Amino acid sequence: MKSALRIFDRVGAPLLTGLATAFFVMETIHDLRKRKQDRWQRLKTNSSIATVGLAGLRGALLPAMLSGSAWTVQKRFGLLQRLPLPRWLQGVLAFVLLDYSNYLWHRLNHQCPFLWRFHNVHHTDLDLDISTAWRFHAGEVLLSIFFRGGMIVLIGASPRQVITYEILYEGATAFHHSNWKLPFAIEKVLNKLMVTPRMHGIHHSIVLRETNSNYSVIFSAWDRLHGTVRLNVPQQEIVIGVPAYRSTAEENVRFLLILPFRPQREWKLPDGSIPERNASGNLTQLL
Ligand SMILES: [Zn+2]
Repeated sequence: MKSALRIFDRVGAPLLTGLATAFFVMETIHDLRKRKQDRWQRLKTNSSIATVGLAGLRGALLPAMLSGSAWTVQKRFGLLQRLPLPRWLQGVLAFVLLDYSNYLWHRLNHQCPFLWRFHNVHHTDLDLDISTAWRFHAGEVLLSIFFRGGMIVLIGASPRQVITYEILYEGATAFHHSNWKLPFAIEKVLNKLMVTPRMHGIHHSIVLRETNSNYSVIFSAWDRLHGTVRLNVPQQEIVIGVPAYRSTAEENVRFLLILPFRPQREWKLPDGSIPERNASGNLTQLL
C-alpha cells in the first residue's frame, strides 16, 4: 500500500500537474465556450475549494481505497481474486470495472438528494474549465470512500491497479473539464472511446435533462450502454451551471463550503422558470 502511495506522489502528482498545465495552455489558446466570469477570480475560488478536496483525496480517500485493496488481495475476497485469470487480463478487467463503478457513483451523486448537496458545489460553477476539474467539496471526496472503497473490495483490484486507475481517472477528469476546443473531427473519433470536453460540457448545462446525461469518467461506453449519452447540443448554446445559483456574488469559498448544509434550491431560475431547450437548440429561458 505504501509503495502504491509512493507511485501516486512520485509519478502521478507530477504527471497530473504537467497535464493540468498543458490543458490550461490549450484552453487559453483554443477556447471552446465563452467565459462568463473573470478567469483569475474563478481560479482563486476553485483552487481554494480544490486544496481542501485534494487534501481529503491524498489524506483519506487514497489511503482508504488502498487499505480496502490490500485487504481484498490478502483475503482473496473480491471477484478478480477468485477468478483464475492471466495477470494482464485481470489488470484490464480491474481498470474497466473500476471505471464502471465510477459511472455509477457519479450517477448516484445526481440521483440521491443527500449526495447532490455536495456534488452541487462542483456544478454551481458558472464556467467550465480546468479549474473546475478539482472543484469538489471535501465532503463529496470523503463520502466517496464508502462507495469507491467498497467497489474496490468487491472487484478485488490490487493496490497497483487502484493507483494506476486513479492517476488516469484524475487525468481524464482534467481533460474533459477543460475548455479546450479540440478539432471537431478529432474529438468525434476520440469520443467513441472516451469522455471529451464537448461531451462533458453538456453534463454541466442548466437544462436538467442535459445535466442528467454523460456521467462517464474515462470510457464513454457506460453512457451509451445505459442510454444516458447526449451529444447533440452545440457548445455555444450551453449555459453552464445550476439554474438556482446564477449569482456571481455567491461564487465565493465561504458560500461554497457551507452550501451542502443549507436548504437546497429547486432546479429553477431566480425568476421561477425552468430552463428548457426548444427545437432550434436555443434555450427558451435566460438567453
Ligand atoms: Zn456531475
